[in-house]
Amino acid sequence: MKTSLLVIGHFNVITMTTIGVLALQGDFREHREVLERLEVSVPEVRLPRDLTGLDGLILPGGESTTIVRLLGTSGLLDPLRSLAREGFPIWGTCAGMILLAKRLDASGIPALEAMDIAVRRNAFGRQVDSFEADLSIPILGDPPFHAVFIRAPIIEQVGPGVEVLARLADGTPVAARQGRLFATAFHPELTADLRLHRFFLQIASHTGC
Ligand code: GLN
Repeated sequence: MKTSLLVIGHFNVITMTTIGVLALQGDFREHREVLERLEVSVPEVRLPRDLTGLDGLILPGGESTTIVRLLGTSGLLDPLRSLAREGFPIWGTCAGMILLAKRLDASGIPALEAMDIAVRRNAFGRQVDSFEADLSIPILGDPPFHAVFIRAPIIEQVGPGVEVLARLADGTPVAARQGRLFATAFHPELTADLRLHRFFLQIASHTGC
């Protein structure tokens, strides 16, 4: 794993994992705060040069159409597409999941097109466009994960290389992984439960896909 080295005095070397957070729009500060509690270095990514030296990257929630436009103007779209294709660890939450998807409903604008999932934006309509649910997530074990959904997308189809990690009670997939690409339809950065951030740190610490 690539790490930042902090050399203290002569002998003590502390290795720190570095996870960038895409900071063009949306709730990137909340992700940064959670990762800092886990002793991770969290540079904000706004330009291609900010991608240097990262062990992984988080694409936060927000408004995917705005983020896609800003990815274009910042010059980040092409480097991010390449990183995702090369198996670089990337976690998309909510709008970030939309950015990762290969297939979108007609309202979505394709971005990284990296993960073999079909995603429908704003899938819960106006009445329940925000809600919370306790999800049983086998990779985390007990207790269930309290998940916050805000104008959330859902995963409508997954390709053969994709593992569904969590579903709503009706069976709808809301978290999935393909190699080192990870997607959640909800917002783990808005709760005190650190388990999914720790899970992503594990993904980012493994070399190879
Ligand atoms: N509805 C937003 C979109 O389509 C995503 C919402 C979110 O990230 N909380 O981009």
